[in-house]
Amino acid sequence: MKSFQRHPAPEVLIKNHAKWTQQYQQKVIENPNKPSVVFDWPRVNGQRVSEQLIFILEQQTQFHCSYCDGGYRLRGTIDHFKPKSDTRFIQHAFDWDNLYVACKDCQDFKRSKYDDVLLRPDDPDFHFEKYFEYDFWRHEIHPQKLASLEDQHRAQITIDVLCLNHPKRCETRRAQFKLSRNSMLNDKDFEIDICNYRFILELPEVSL
Ligand SMILES: [Zn+2]
Repeated sequence: MKSFQRHPAPEVLIKNHAKWTQQYQQKVIENPNKPSVVFDWPRVNGQRVSEQLIFILEQQTQFHCSYCDGGYRLRGTIDHFKPKSDTRFIQHAFDWDNLYVACKDCQDFKRSKYDDVLLRPDDPDFHFEKYFEYDFWRHEIHPQKLASLEDQHRAQITIDVLCLNHPKRCETRRAQFKLSRNSMLNDKDFEIDICNYRFILELPEVSL
């Protein structure tokens, strides 16, 4: 998970927020058992608004997944941080702050899971080392031992909800780290933003 700065809410969302939220709430009232099924991105000038939104979301993360920082150049999908399928959060379905671009793995692991303490990469206070530490041997992510117990708890919940230590994810990070580290050392035109899992490369141990 790498921190990023959220761009201002797009005009199209500000303008239509109340109307679209109300329309979605109405659909859920009519189909109370399947809120996610009745959700659809409205069309503006013949194009789904998600197409416009996803482009801005991808620019924010330099085309990486907001959660795992993998999937570079992703054509990901939009994740609702507070799940749109959870009836407690219907009114947040079109909140700009609730939308993140995510890779398929993160979407599949997260699904409709949510916890109030889940970390957000665009929280101005968020940076990887504040909450996490990286095990370069196993390529696992763990709560930062120097953090407060509350922050360690937040880190653990985030790891669990996104399955950040799933064996497949650790193996992918291992392979990608090896590649990136190699080009970091040998390629004079090295650019961090075209690497997956940039947060690992930014750790002080790596720049030694
Ligand atoms: Zn991801």
